[in-house]
Amino acid sequence: MMSPDAEDYADIRAGVVRLCEQFPGAYWRDKDETRSYPTEFVQALTEAGYLSVMIPEAYGGSGLPLGAACAILEEIHRSGCNGGACHAQMYTMGTLLRHGSEAQKQRYLPEVASGALRLQAFGVTEPNSGTDTTRIGTRAVRDGDDYVVNGQKIWISRAEHSDLMVLLVRTADREASAKSTDGMSVLLVDMRTAVGNGLTIKPINTMMNHGATELFFDDLRVPVSNRIGEEGAGFRYILDGMNAERILIAAECIGDARFFVSAAARYATDRQVFGGPIGANQGVQFPIARAHIQTEAAAGMVARAQALFEAGQPCGAEANMAKLLASEASWAAGDTCIQTHGGFGFAVDFDIERKFRETRLYQVAPISTNLILSHVATHELGMPKSF
Ligand SMILES: Cc1cc2nc3c(=O)[nH]c(=O)nc-3n(C[C@H](O)[C@H](O)[C@H](O)COP(=O)(O)OP(=O)(O)OC[C@H]3O[C@@H](n4cnc5c(N)ncnc54)[C@H](O)[C@@H]3O)c2cc1C
Repeated sequence: MMSPDAEDYADIRAGVVRLCEQFPGAYWRDKDETRSYPTEFVQALTEAGYLSVMIPEAYGGSGLPLGAACAILEEIHRSGCNGGACHAQMYTMGTLLRHGSEAQKQRYLPEVASGALRLQAFGVTEPNSGTDTTRIGTRAVRDGDDYVVNGQKIWISRAEHSDLMVLLVRTADREASAKSTDGMSVLLVDMRTAVGNGLTIKPINTMMNHGATELFFDDLRVPVSNRIGEEGAGFRYILDGMNAERILIAAECIGDARFFVSAAARYATDRQVFGGPIGANQGVQFPIARAHIQTEAAAGMVARAQALFEAGQPCGAEANMAKLLASEASWAAGDTCIQTHGGFGFAVDFDIERKFRETRLYQVAPISTNLILSHVATHELGMPKSF
């Protein structure tokens, strides 16, 4: 629910809905079944300019605030589509925009905005460090004008469908750094030249169609000129982008939740059993109403986090709370939607089971619920940290 005076981006929303109508359930079912990338959908979004709304006009984008990107992703998900194939471009470019040099921004952002370059991959997670990013082991060692990168990443989405990747590496050992968060750096990797020259990408098949991969770095050379910002300060740059990422993902969850609530309400009204609509039974009706209430409450928190972000205010707690509430609301709404549909909730052609699988991710990625609870408990409520 937007606050009454918040920008609703009605025109953008209507445009996204029209675009999504060209990509109905059958399109997504086919992609899901064949585990293939929705190239046509991403292309259409790119051509319409929706993926570059947050890139400043000076670099070829529309220079709109976060709320516009939230509206776009929410409508994509409410329409039954999936923004997971391309949402990263909206927040990953922020690392380049905020911390890149003017030369890097001039070189890359206009082409990202036009769609000539895809900046869809973001490499942080590793198999041995998990959520504890300070323990990443992928190492970049300086050799002349290059860094030589060795290590491994896991769960990196869209790596096969991106021209550039924002990569977090260690440039100094954790033990040798003043703080555990020091000694990490951000490199912009050109995937077009890296693959086969020190970078190997291995797809991971998952329960939904997400394009997740494992990355292996074996003496990959990355020019020092591709480092974003200062050496050793990379963790802060990544952290900086996380609020935007969480708020955008929360907006997707609100879209999913609204998809489920309206599908459930519609079916409950139409489906006749025992001589009347199932939705007349409060046992069917109340869970849908509850899912709606949960969704709108979560949407209120998303709007609050978004407003703080746009005002340049601290919003870490609100971004985290919005992501937690929205991901739980979409899951609860999905569960209710399946229950309302009875057997048909499991039928692939109804798209509900697909959306149910897709929305489950957001309680784990980009940050899992426990870690949000831990953040709120320790940062907001002042309780002791367990790690
Ligand atoms: C489909 C998919 C796409 C992804 N895309 C990307 C991507 O593009 N780029 C990228 O860098 N990463 C990506 N990720 C990784 C994602 O961000 C991580 O999976 C997520 O942050 C959880 O980390 P983990 O899997 O290492 O879990 P772990 O850190 O191993 O945690 C496992 C479980 O233990 C819990 N836990 C861990 N420590 C604690 C603690 N101290 N207290 C309480 N509970 C704890 C967690 O909450 C979680 O439930 C993706 C993941 C998936 C599944």
